[in-house]
Amino acid sequence: MAMSWDAVLRDEEALREAAVVAVDAALLEGVLMRTEGCPNASDVVNYAPFTLLPSVVPSELFEQAYAVQQDFNLLVDAISQNKEFLEQTLASTIKVDDFTAQLFRIHKQVLEEGLAQSVFLGINRSDYMFDCGVYGTPALKQIEINTIAASFGGLTSRTVAVHGRVLKVLGKFQEASHLVPNNPSKGLALGIAKAWELYGSPSAVVMFLVEEVQRNIFDQRCVENELWNRNIRVIRKRFRDVFEKGSLDDAKRLYIDGQEVAVVYYREGYVPTNYDQQNWEARLLLERSRAVKCPDIATQLAGTKKVQQELSRPGTLEQLLPGHTEAIARIRATFAGLYSLEVGEEGDRMVAAAIADPDRFVLKPQREGGGNNLYGEELKQVLEKIRDSPERNAYILMDKIKPQPAINYLLRAHSPLQASECISELGIFGVYVRQGQKMVMNKAAGHLLRTKAIEHADGGVAAGVAVLDTPYVV
Ligand code: ADP
Ligand code: MG
Repeated sequence: MAMSWDAVLRDEEALREAAVVAVDAALLEGVLMRTEGCPNASDVVNYAPFTLLPSVVPSELFEQAYAVQQDFNLLVDAISQNKEFLEQTLASTIKVDDFTAQLFRIHKQVLEEGLAQSVFLGINRSDYMFDCGVYGTPALKQIEINTIAASFGGLTSRTVAVHGRVLKVLGKFQEASHLVPNNPSKGLALGIAKAWELYGSPSAVVMFLVEEVQRNIFDQRCVENELWNRNIRVIRKRFRDVFEKGSLDDAKRLYIDGQEVAVVYYREGYVPTNYDQQNWEARLLLERSRAVKCPDIATQLAGTKKVQQELSRPGTLEQLLPGHTEAIARIRATFAGLYSLEVGEEGDRMVAAAIADPDRFVLKPQREGGGNNLYGEELKQVLEKIRDSPERNAYILMDKIKPQPAINYLLRAHSPLQASECISELGIFGVYVRQGQKMVMNKAAGHLLRTKAIEHADGGVAAGVAVLDTPYVV
């Protein structure tokens, strides 16, 4: 790559001093997380893990990722409205994956009853790595698109100041001024505010649907604060609260504790462990309501790995976005190789190919949140076990993306300072609002860079593997 921090990295003494400043700057700027030992109170907090140095990102790829975001917003929205596509695509998956099946049942039930919701709000984050390819020219390749609970749009806006300070301490004043400002939480809040306004009941509130364990609350507070600044009331509730105190009136308006809810913003509900029987009932109640769900259940399904794999089939994008030739070309350029493992000839071929060369691929189940994918020897063992079983319909196969590693220091509370070979993942936040059939907002809202040591194949910031970073765009 054209530029790196080689000179800076040679002076370990200076880096140690800078790391001390960096941690204090992170605390001052609010790059915060609650602690593992005390996840539901803010009496004791610590800094969220982050890199000492910003990571180099090639400007063409950075711009390409921004340029395709509105296209991805359109695509996700189109999939969410395409009942037949979702049904066909997920048909074999839901036979073997109970979680996706349960989401799909609610989706179907809500459609059969008739949608009460008429305003739609999407907040997603499309994640990429920079694949080195055979010629060493990095290419932007999508890892996945997150259509529910895409996080770190708040904390990431605060790492720019931290990295700016670190660069100055290291004598890099010009480089510090080169860092790109970034505030996704503002863009996300604009979308939520628009949906709230279009819902049309000034006394109604925005409800953040939150987890039982809330370590990442400060990230959510950033979005919340933007809404309070616009004089929009925000409440935080769990599925359990909805089960106990939620109700619909005759017009399917959603009430909780006697308050009408205009927008439900999910920061929960994307993994099986988020649900017991009561929570599923609460989810159904929310989906049946006329409140704006971010996302509605169809949009959550649009973000499954199985849908992602089907999108890469020739003709699928054309079918979903008729007439959008340029958007389709931009979207397709970011796709890595994706393969169905469905029982049948094509699936048999791919199972055999992956067993023969496991390091070329990643095996992905229909799960979110990091730490679920299979690689290398483990991938091979699992495929050998399920090769003759319909269980393999629960997975997709993807080409492994191989970025060029760079040296950085990952700062984590209670961990020694040491250099690591790292790779980064760039996420672009997208926001859109649709009223009936009319798109009234479609934007890219900012970015997130996460970096991890190369020895970890998988896992995000919440999973304790990746850390927050800032792109140094060159
Ligand atoms: P999740 O929904 O769990 O976040 P992802 O598809 O984002 O699932 O995969 C989790 C992590 O695994 C990613 O953040 C990335 O580090 C790694 N990963 C996923 N797909 C690939 C791939 N095709 N090549 C290389 N690494 C990958
Ligand atoms: Mg991911």
